[in-house]
Amino acid sequence: MNNPTRILFIDDHPDDRRLAIIVLRQSLPDLQVDEVADALAFAERVAGGRFAAAITEYRLAWTDGLDVLSTIKRVQPDCPVIVFTAQGGEAVAAEALRRGADGYVLKGSSGTLRLADVLREALAAAEGARAGRDGERRARGLIERTPVGMFTASAEGDLLEGNRAAGRILGAVDARAVAGRELASLLAEPAQQARVRALVGLGEPIRHLEAALAGGDAARSWVRLSAWPVREGDGPIIRWEGTLEDVTASKRVEEELAERAAALVQANAELQQFSATISHDLQEPLHLIARYSRLLAEQARGSLDERARRYVGHVAASAERMQAMIDGLLEYARVDTRGRSFAQVDLADAAADALSNLKAAIEESDAVIEVGVLPALAADRAQMVRLFQNLIGNALKFRGKQPPHVRVTSAQQGDHWAVSVADNGIGIEEDQLGRIFGLFQRLHGEGEFPGTGVGLAICKRIVERHGGQIWASSHGQRGSTFTFTIPLVPAQPEERRGSLAVGG
Ligand code: ADP
Repeated sequence: MNNPTRILFIDDHPDDRRLAIIVLRQSLPDLQVDEVADALAFAERVAGGRFAAAITEYRLAWTDGLDVLSTIKRVQPDCPVIVFTAQGGEAVAAEALRRGADGYVLKGSSGTLRLADVLREALAAAEGARAGRDGERRARGLIERTPVGMFTASAEGDLLEGNRAAGRILGAVDARAVAGRELASLLAEPAQQARVRALVGLGEPIRHLEAALAGGDAARSWVRLSAWPVREGDGPIIRWEGTLEDVTASKRVEEELAERAAALVQANAELQQFSATISHDLQEPLHLIARYSRLLAEQARGSLDERARRYVGHVAASAERMQAMIDGLLEYARVDTRGRSFAQVDLADAAADALSNLKAAIEESDAVIEVGVLPALAADRAQMVRLFQNLIGNALKFRGKQPPHVRVTSAQQGDHWAVSVADNGIGIEEDQLGRIFGLFQRLHGEGEFPGTGVGLAICKRIVERHGGQIWASSHGQRGSTFTFTIPLVPAQPEERRGSLAVGG
């Protein structure tokens, strides 16, 4: 059920009131009419809360209808008031309308009937105005509360007004303090000022322009500025409207990230250079140590006792081992620096080359190597050969009691190829599976299995240069499987920003 519409009916003629109310109720059944016949009742009703409309006689015993009208409009400015009177000429009507009356109806049979229509119209108009005012108030509130700066500017691009956020973003305490400034002059960079002036001049919208604000002292503020011209029909621009977003925080993060990335690239390059130089410079003295300890062992064989010969042997072996480690380190560092650009490579060919390089080890160990169907993809061919050679070489080296059985297979998985090298060798402890890809990480002594612990680190670096991943799995004594992935869409090797991590 609708709420009743409460109206005041001010008239000191009871018969007139009654008749009019009967007529009104017929066409407006929800009407609740408060009848007012004297000054006291009027004062009480006006003080007693809101009513939807008032109908007043002009001639009243205690005052006149114009006074009633003024009082009501003062207390409740949006309340429609209709003057309904038996007496009153044009002058009264004109005065009533001047004071804000919403209708003027003369009493009489046709007037009484018309009163219902006039009241209905006045109620509808008041309701429409109220809804409009509410909507406007809500929209204003929303505009004031939004964190996005909003502004209007003249056709020439001078700011007219802005919401609270615009004031805050532009550093003005009061949004009104923004008024009058040229939009372009808000920006710090002359080039961007010129751009905004040009767009305003051409009447072209400004779209998401990110710029530093002028006048910022040490800490710069950044905004994202958009503005669009408003025209009346097809006519000239009458004003601009636009938004300002504070993007200082994200801009700072962006700048910091760029600085860090640059520092990282620099540090990486220095590290590469450092490791290459060290490895290179260490080679020569090591080479001499190895050579002279061998010479010593040969030439002073007769004059050295058994223990001294053993010592010299250890020196020679250690020098050779260190040479091998340095060679490995150099090769590791060069995966990125000396890598070739990617070309279409048939992995079956790369695997065949690796097997041919491993011919002696395969024959010596009686190994069976099965190579399944392998894809062709964009890669560095020499590095693919090295990858297969290291993985298949390990499968031969870390063999168990049985002759090695190695299977190379591939499968397309989503956006990449996965290639696996599985063996029936000694397997790897579960908790060591991640460690073995680190530089110089070995699970066995040199006496047990020869090697330097660089092979898998090189594999990892090669795979990562190609945008893929590598991991190992093992099932106890039943051998190990090494799997690497290469994306179908080739990675850009130049984009890689890895560092030369030694150890882990
Ligand atoms: P290296 O072969 O010179 O020792 P790698 O980096 O190639 O160095 O391998 C690191 C370690 O990972 C090896 O020392 C070995 O302990 C383990 N490993 C590598 N491949 C296999 C394999 N196929 N089966 C068992 N263990 C392996």
